[in-house]
Amino acid sequence: MDFAFDARTEELRGRLLAFMDEYVYPAEKTADEQRARLASPWDTPQIVEDLKAEARRQGLWNLFLPDAEYGAGLTNLQYAPLAEITGRSPQLAPTALNCAAPDTGNMEVLFQFATDEQKKRWLEPLLAGEIRSAFAMTEPEVASSDATNIETRIARDGGDYVINGRKWYISGAMNPDCEIFIVMGKTAPDGPDIRRQQSMILVPRDTPGLEVRRAMRVYGYEDHYHGGHAEVVFTDVRVPAANLIGEEGGGFAIAQARLGPGRIHHCMRLIGMAERAIELMCRRAVSRTAFGKPLAQQGVVQNWIADARVTVEQLRLLVLKTAWLMDTVGNRGAHTEIQAIKIATPRAVVDILDRAVQLHGAGGVGQDFPLAELWAAARTLRLADGPDEVHQRSLARREIKRYV
Ligand SMILES: Cc1cc2nc3c(=O)[nH]c(=O)nc-3n(C[C@H](O)[C@H](O)[C@H](O)COP(=O)(O)OP(=O)(O)OC[C@H]3O[C@@H](n4cnc5c(N)ncnc54)[C@H](O)[C@@H]3O)c2cc1C
Repeated sequence: MDFAFDARTEELRGRLLAFMDEYVYPAEKTADEQRARLASPWDTPQIVEDLKAEARRQGLWNLFLPDAEYGAGLTNLQYAPLAEITGRSPQLAPTALNCAAPDTGNMEVLFQFATDEQKKRWLEPLLAGEIRSAFAMTEPEVASSDATNIETRIARDGGDYVINGRKWYISGAMNPDCEIFIVMGKTAPDGPDIRRQQSMILVPRDTPGLEVRRAMRVYGYEDHYHGGHAEVVFTDVRVPAANLIGEEGGGFAIAQARLGPGRIHHCMRLIGMAERAIELMCRRAVSRTAFGKPLAQQGVVQNWIADARVTVEQLRLLVLKTAWLMDTVGNRGAHTEIQAIKIATPRAVVDILDRAVQLHGAGGVGQDFPLAELWAAARTLRLADGPDEVHQRSLARREIKRYV
């Protein structure tokens, strides 16, 4: 039985479910066919633009942004079940609704910390779905789960900043529509407070010295729908000082603010992925016979399906509790729960997807079912936005501190 949400959420859920059935699922095959015919695989298939136009027309747009003027004005608790539905088709639905990472996190940063001029130049076209964006923090040379390691330099030079560094796994950057990078680097590499050395700065894609060098793979996939994950090199990249976001030394704090909502959104969508996996498992189990009976009658298959259902119900409640806490006591107050869902959800959903692959036999690892690609996407979320172990360490420290 479905959880009952408030009237506005239920109304939006109904419309979103209909949008998924009528437009998104049928577009999955078309999008792949169109992409195969594009001049560059990084361009956006026309059907994605058509989906965006239809979603916007139906008011299913910018649902992630709690602000009522810039976004849809939904709380995290209201957005959670909607994001879950988009996770059932993670390549298309979040983009169709202008609710895809990394743009959502970047829009939140701009909404919270940008000047009016920066908002006009970058936030407005992002909210209109006219351009895409990237967030560039991770570096190949240093363990980047520790943000104090970041080596990219953002050096003040008169009225400009000059940026030098190398980043990788920068999601979205292969897409030519990605016109703006939020770059994290050090403005005070020798500053006394290691959490005040970093700053964030806006770097337009066409700035001389910015080179999108190559697409990094994800278990062999290039992740075209997310605009890939690029290696990006910055060589003497010069931008006006007015491109700094917030104040010098504020980068670390902005990164923390950005990641709270980003993490819960990923978990909401992962639950949708798990629901799709359960549906595919059940359909396969009743339609395929081995050794004289349908797979659905094998005890082991029943255990997989039952365990998956139990896990999804548990995860959903934890995500909803976290969303409710973020709404009521703020992201700081929900810190432990945000870390708990970030640890629990990708791990459990990877497991469910793995069983779904197993149930589909060879087909499970191939391209005729979405399972293999969903597995790869879910697996990366044990690394992206901070590896499991970093969250476990910090959660455990807070837990233990109460007893010393
Ligand atoms: C698909 C994908 C998309 C991504 N998108 C982006 C993006 O858009 N922008 C961006 O900037 N980055 C992005 N990343 C990078 C991601 O955020 C980093 O990979 C992550 O923060 C870890 O940094 P690292 O890879 O340098 O690993 P490292 O910091 O080198 O860590 C390696 C491993 O060491 C272990 N470890 C580290 N610290 C601890 C600890 N304290 N205790 C115990 N074990 C520990 C963990 O097992 C960890 O996985 C993406 C990554 C992937 C896979």
